[in-house]
Amino acid sequence: MVLPAAVEAVRTVCWTAALLAGHLAPGRRDPRRAAALLRRYLYRMGPLYLKAGQILGTQSGLWGPGAAAEFRSFFAGLPPMAPAALRRTLARSLGAPADRVFASFDWTPVAAGTVAQVHRATLPSGEAVAVKVVKEGVPERLHASARVLGLLLHLAHLLVPACRRFDLRGQFAELRPALLGQFDLRAEARHQDRIRENFAGNPRVGVPRLYPEHCTDRVLVMEFVDGVPGHEADRLPADRRPDLAARVQEAFYCMAYFHGRFHVDPHPGNVVFGAGGEVVFLDFGLVGVLSEDDRWHLSAFYYACVRGRWELAADRFTGAFVVGGDRLSADCRTELADVLRHHFEDRSRRWSTMAFFRDAAMLLHRRGARLSTRITLLALALLTGEGFVYDVDPGFDLWTHNRRFTDRFSPYQSDAARETFRREIEARAPRAAALRAAAADTLVAPTHLDRFVLPSTFPLVVRSAAGARLTDVDGNVYLDLSGGYGPHILGYGHPVVREAIHRAVADGAVNALGNPAEFALARLLAQAFPGQGRALLCNSGTEAVLVAIRLARAWTNRRRVAKCEGHYHGFSDHGQVSSWFRYSGDPHRPRAVANSAGADPRLVADTVVLQYGDPASFDRIAACAAELACVIVEPMPAALAEVDRGFLRRLRQECDRHGIVLIFDEVVTGFRVDYGGAQRLAGVRPDLTCAGKIIGGGLPCGAVVGRPHLVDLARTTHDPFLDVTARAFVGGTMSGNSVTAAAGAATLGHLRAHPEIYPALARRTDLLTGLLTGEAAAAGVPCRITGSRSIFSVTFDHASPRRIRDRLAGSHLQASVALAYYLRKHGVYLPELHTAMLSAAHTEDDLAQVAGAFGKSVREMADAGFFAH
Ligand code: PLP
Repeated sequence: MVLPAAVEAVRTVCWTAALLAGHLAPGRRDPRRAAALLRRYLYRMGPLYLKAGQILGTQSGLWGPGAAAEFRSFFAGLPPMAPAALRRTLARSLGAPADRVFASFDWTPVAAGTVAQVHRATLPSGEAVAVKVVKEGVPERLHASARVLGLLLHLAHLLVPACRRFDLRGQFAELRPALLGQFDLRAEARHQDRIRENFAGNPRVGVPRLYPEHCTDRVLVMEFVDGVPGHEADRLPADRRPDLAARVQEAFYCMAYFHGRFHVDPHPGNVVFGAGGEVVFLDFGLVGVLSEDDRWHLSAFYYACVRGRWELAADRFTGAFVVGGDRLSADCRTELADVLRHHFEDRSRRWSTMAFFRDAAMLLHRRGARLSTRITLLALALLTGEGFVYDVDPGFDLWTHNRRFTDRFSPYQSDAARETFRREIEARAPRAAALRAAAADTLVAPTHLDRFVLPSTFPLVVRSAAGARLTDVDGNVYLDLSGGYGPHILGYGHPVVREAIHRAVADGAVNALGNPAEFALARLLAQAFPGQGRALLCNSGTEAVLVAIRLARAWTNRRRVAKCEGHYHGFSDHGQVSSWFRYSGDPHRPRAVANSAGADPRLVADTVVLQYGDPASFDRIAACAAELACVIVEPMPAALAEVDRGFLRRLRQECDRHGIVLIFDEVVTGFRVDYGGAQRLAGVRPDLTCAGKIIGGGLPCGAVVGRPHLVDLARTTHDPFLDVTARAFVGGTMSGNSVTAAAGAATLGHLRAHPEIYPALARRTDLLTGLLTGEAAAAGVPCRITGSRSIFSVTFDHASPRRIRDRLAGSHLQASVALAYYLRKHGVYLPELHTAMLSAAHTEDDLAQVAGAFGKSVREMADAGFFAH
């Protein structure tokens, strides 16, 4: 151990001295000569240093094109290991000689890099594969180099003040695991699989498929990708070339900003272009990972930059990515804002990540701070990718494409698009526009909510609604796909419901007084959820959730609440934790994060956030079971429109095992996906069910239905002193009022008497999603239509992520919002960014009308450039 390290240390010192001497010799200003010297040095120093050199070699901006070419030719020609070593390594790793594992094996490598080499082979099944083999001795050499470099940096840290200021020791310690992990091909295989999964369904980006049965820590076997090497893009047919640079840039940005798992080394040698111009990434030895929080902060930073809010951008940047940022004074932030303005505004015609990071790093260095290692790794990858993009197309306008990329994923329209929509909408509906403008002084927004984060710029102003149609105040008629966000399953103004409401109003519209409609609604609810024989009425889904949590806490005498990430349970503090927009932490172990200003931070911190469908959730429950009052979950999350039966069954068992109350939030699904909700589809019964929306027949209503011992906690004990400590108080002046209860009971009564409504709704949903998918495909627009049982959503994206946190990332929000306005022009109302709903009033002709309007809309959007790179 000591001897190799000592040898390595001597080598390092000697070769570094030789490099410096060479560098000081005459002619040192010749960049080609400098590059040649450096590459000789790196080669002698071994794989760790070569890796660094490889990255430098992509930087034509740093070295000039001649020197960069010098580097590239060098790295393209690294020597492979000796044939005997290759045979030995293969036999040891595969457990048999290569001749026995492969039908054929080409012993001449197709590529040899710093850490590994790649051979072409054929499997006995006839499939052509690429076999990547770690070079013999490289892991040991990497370790020795890393040890010595660590030691030298430690010494330098003690002796050289400049090293202390840059914290080279700390930075190397952070990078070390990534560098040393390169020769563990199992880790590489995991990254490759994940990145391949992230791009699944994307026809523009590829990642080779692995053959896991042949993969070991020293050997990877994957599909062989025939294509044009990254640095020979001009060999592609001319019609495939125009947007190649944009594709490379977009693929890389998707990895970094959406998936949070990116290739740190996207140089031309690690990319192949497929016959259709698709970008195929190879070699995932060095992969960077950005956390959910990193991506949030990066997006917030870019958002401020794109809007020219430089001080805010500087604050966001330092807050998230600067180590020692607490020491930064106000004038340093102003200076950083100037650097940002200079690069993003003045230099944007020839954007250079390198120049930006250099200036930012120098400024921070002067102030005793530095960039965090995570962002440095991203910067390295951006530098490499940028070098590649300019290589593919030297005239590429990186900044314009950058803007286009960020704009697409912002929910806000460009100024030009907004102006077009405004003109078109105001010409069609001038009275609505005038009413909206007049209301702006007094009402927060012309709907009850201003769609926080994703605002509706042009909400409809409706005069009347009937069946599946809305009529606005200007007399325009729209086929409705909102269903009022859920309640109107029978269509607007269904005669049965209208009649019930008229009668209840004529009878005096009583509240805070017992009335027969209240009894009828409670009975219908209790019967709809077997085993949950008690109902308690309130005024909204939010209230139902508040009540259910209070009952659970009162029963268990425990404080904490567990919920699933991305599930919305109303706008209470609990209901909004990690709900729609902001997520945090590892996907398997999410961290609770508030989704609104004003939320009680103690309550947020007390919430345990689970991942729906993820078995790791059960460990999290077990870990704090003694403190958990309840687990609340949307059994069929509206965003996914799918039930995970296995997960719900296990959740039921775990809650039973630990004495935790299981709450299903069926505010949307309770009477929409079936009479009796998603729990009926799943075959799993909770302890408490929260209901809302449909159960009020279009009027404000909520309910908790549940097992008697829990709901009865809201009954008195007839001992006032005991009530205060042992009973859960539930209030509500309007709860169970006669008008709402009559409307709700009429709706549920009608649904119960007409069970055929549900299969018909399910069929029509499938019909509609099929029609829409066909229209999008015919228009050549990347679009995903998901849905079932009357709930559906349209997303302009190739991917179908399983987790809700991944669904917003990478989704073309700008197009989603624009679609709503295009559809409106063609007589269809789709909520801008909300799940869409069908009602029993939609006929097949209506669906054909929707599909026709959708087809026209996506074609017009394509013509308007919404889906261009
Ligand atoms: N739970 C779920 C699943 C919801 O979707 C909603 C509202 O959309 C609520 C609770 C809150 O219901 P309300 O808006 O009636 O308060």
